[in-house]
Amino acid sequence: MKVRLNSLNDGKQIISAALSAGDLSITEPELESPVTVTLKIDKGASEIKIDGVVKTTVKLVCDRCLTSFSRAINGTFSVIASFTHPELEVDDENMILIPPKANEINLNEHVHDTILLAIPMKILCREDCRGLCPTCGVNLNQTDCQCDIAEPDARWEPLKKLTLNVTEEK
Ligand SMILES: [Zn+2]
Ligand SMILES: [Zn+2]
Repeated sequence: MKVRLNSLNDGKQIISAALSAGDLSITEPELESPVTVTLKIDKGASEIKIDGVVKTTVKLVCDRCLTSFSRAINGTFSVIASFTHPELEVDDENMILIPPKANEINLNEHVHDTILLAIPMKILCREDCRGLCPTCGVNLNQTDCQCDIAEPDARWEPLKKLTLNVTEEK
């Protein structure tokens, strides 16, 4: 999202736009709806404060059951774009230095990063996803399989040992 400097008024204003995956160079994850960005802008004499809200829907694949599902993304970012910059930390990602002859501020990278940061490291279709059966591969969220009947239940192991000891003592 590019903000044209000469289109801004002094003081507070809100601007919004819809962006595509292509605009933001996002290939993963797949976007299921356009990205809407709403910017609250406060323009002063030496700097412009920008608070952005980023919304879209992405298609994710569950790490546990491998089913794809949609998830709404709702992220925020804040930046300060400064006209006067000598003392600023240039490596601060929340700071943008506006070159003297610039006519726009490009926020695509901030929007891009906000979307990717809103996606959790561990992707689960739901908190209690039961995953796939390691033996037969069925999706245990949809079907129950008979595999675990044949598997010994670990919780009974200590009791078996107990029974064994009792028998030996006789
Ligand atoms: Zn799942
Ligand atoms: Zn199974």
